[in-house]
Formats: sequence, C-alpha cells, structure tokens
Amino acid sequence: MMSRENKFETDAIRTQMERSEFLEHSTPLHLTSSFVFEDAEDMRASFAEEKERNIYSRFTNPNTSEFVDKMCKLEGAESGYAFATGMAAVFSTFAALLNAGDHIVSARSIFGSTHTLFTKFLPKWNIETSYFKVGEVDNIESLIQSNTKILYVESPTNPAVDILDLEELGQIAKKHNLIFIIDNCFATPYLQNPIKFGADLVIHSATKLIDGQGRVLGGATVGRADLIREIYLFSRNTGPALSPFNAWILSKSLETLGVRVDRHCENALKVAEFLETHSKVALVKYPFLKSHPQYALAKKQMKQGGNVVAFEVKGGIDAGRQFLNHLKMLSLSANLGDTRSIATHPASTTHSKLSEADRLETGISDGLVRISVGLEHVDDIIADLKQALAYV
Ligand SMILES: *Cc1c(COP(=O)(O)O)cnc(C)c1O
Repeated sequence: MMSRENKFETDAIRTQMERSEFLEHSTPLHLTSSFVFEDAEDMRASFAEEKERNIYSRFTNPNTSEFVDKMCKLEGAESGYAFATGMAAVFSTFAALLNAGDHIVSARSIFGSTHTLFTKFLPKWNIETSYFKVGEVDNIESLIQSNTKILYVESPTNPAVDILDLEELGQIAKKHNLIFIIDNCFATPYLQNPIKFGADLVIHSATKLIDGQGRVLGGATVGRADLIREIYLFSRNTGPALSPFNAWILSKSLETLGVRVDRHCENALKVAEFLETHSKVALVKYPFLKSHPQYALAKKQMKQGGNVVAFEVKGGIDAGRQFLNHLKMLSLSANLGDTRSIATHPASTTHSKLSEADRLETGISDGLVRISVGLEHVDDIIADLKQALAYV
C-alpha cells in the first residue's frame, strides 16, 4: 500500500478490477449479458441490493465498473455511472433528476444536441430552460426561479472555447440550492476537475479525448453519491448503459490520457500561435493564448488549454469554405479529440439547428472554423493550414 494519494497518471493506469484466477496483467474483457447466482437466497439478496454484485450488464458489468471507478478517481468524485454516449449521459442525468415543471438555468454556449434537448424535448415535460451569455454570469441570479433545480454549463465551451468561472458558478449554485452540473468534455479530468470548484455532477462524452482514437462512443456522469443513485436507478431501468466492450476500450484509453493530452495541448498552442500571426486570420481563440479574454481564468482552473482552437478567416463564410476545401491532411469531420486533426464549420454542421441569433450570441460567426488539433507532427499540421490559407 502506498501511503500517499497517487498522482493522476498512476490512478489512470493502476485502477483495475480484481484479477481473475488467470492472474492476467491487463484487464480482461467480460462479454456477458448476465451473471449467475449461487442459489435462490443469493438471487434474492442480490436483487434486494443486500450485496454489491453484478446481476445483468444493463445494470453493471465488471468492465463498465472499472471505467466508472477510474473516472471517479480521476475527477475526485464519490460515485458515477457509465453511458453508451455522452448524450445518453446528459439526457439520463436530466431525466433522472428533474420532475415535470422544474426549471434549468444554462449557459447559452452548449453542445448542439444538448441545446436541442433543452429546446425541443424537455419542454414536452414542461421543463423550461433560461439562458445566460458566457460573459454575463452576473445575470444568473435574475434568471433563478422558485422551481429552478439545475445550473448547467460547459467550460471551455464548444466551439468558441470561452471559459466560465467555475468557482463563482459553484458559489451561486450553493447559495440558491441548485444542482451544479458541468459537461467537462473539452477539458477531460486531466486538465480540469470541476468538483474542486463546487460542481455536484460532472458529465463526459468519452467519445472525444478519453477514447482519443476515434473508435468508440461512450459517456459518464460522476459526482455526488446521492444524485448518482437516482441516475443509476433511472438508467438501470431505461437502458442507456455503456457496452462492456466500449468500457474496456475506454478504460485502456484512460491509461494514456495524460501523455496524449499533454501532446494535444502542446500542438494546439503552437497551432494557435501560428494562426494568430497569419495575415488572413481575423481572430483566434485558444484558452492559453494571452489574447484570450479569459486567459487568467483559464490558467487558474485548467492545467493546459485543451486541443480545440477556434478561428475566423478574413472574408466570412466564402473564405471559410475555400479554406476547408483546400485542406489536404486535416479531416473534415464532426468528431474531436482524435489522433487525427479535424476541421469543422460549426455554423453549417454541429450548430446548424440554432437560429442565427442564437449562433451569434454563442460566438459562432459564419466564418468560424474549429480545429481539433491531433497528434500528427505539429509541423505537418501547420504546413497544411498554411497551404490552405493561401487560397483564401
Ligand atoms: C460530443 C459532445 C457531447 C456528446 O457526446 P456523444 O458521445 O457524441 O453523445 C456532449 N458534450 C460535448 C461538449 C461534446 O463535445
């Protein structure tokens, strides 16, 4: 036994399920839909939750539990549950915790599908959402109603990489007895641990940097044990569970999260610095660039700036399209956090369902390009950006 708490990298590697009789070194994959009981009494006691054991893989499975245990350690959370996708985590969390007639206060800048959930589906159950702009945290208290239950944010935001003050938000949530939930997808547990700043629950799309290799979908919600218990009960009966195979992949992926994200961030900063000096680029947003409006805040709550760089090409939408059409190596794809660098045009893709007014309020101009900086050699990434910018 080590006497001190392990560092991040060590927990990411050494948090592992109990070894089987084969004494395997690496975690084995348990592809089984159900588990057997010793006898009728074991079966009764297991269903009565008098013992902690696997019953059916829609509830728990050794591989999903290992992934969840690791995510909890890395986020400093009491408990958690793993989901088939990031959106399954988002939806199940809201569905489990809210009643008809409850109210959400959310930052305006949130993932496109989460925005659709708030505007199109939750209103079916009479659950409404009020929004504040990233720069207007002062406004939050005026939006809180007697039926407000949840304060919801992302930081850094997608795609404009704005930063919200998590400590301040945590204090507001505490004062008004709101459940403070943050989607920590862009930062990963390696760069930012929102629970330290007062978050009650942290949601992840594990599809992104956690898998990091563009292979599988997954998600997790971790945080306060009493809230996770509700989320678990909802999920075990409605079926958004992560598959054991994907959990096995994601748990292996966490072993290398630290070294991968270090290089992602190093490359992203170099890309951002290159773009900032380019004559055809109107604006660059990257949390660890000194020119970022919340640079000091980013430094305070994040270890590094992440792998997403947002920028605007001079000349608006046509120039942006010219640029994207001339990229030779970077992929045009909707994913992010892959080893492969990816360019997207949020206004016509991920955020196309938003009205133009909502888009502009979220910092998504028509010419905004989002780059998920990958792990190719940074000289090659910059060379591709440079040759494509020549066509603008
Ligand atoms: C991708 C993403 C999600 C949704 O995750 P899926 O795994 O694609 O369902 C949620 N939030 C953010 C910030 C994302 O980038």
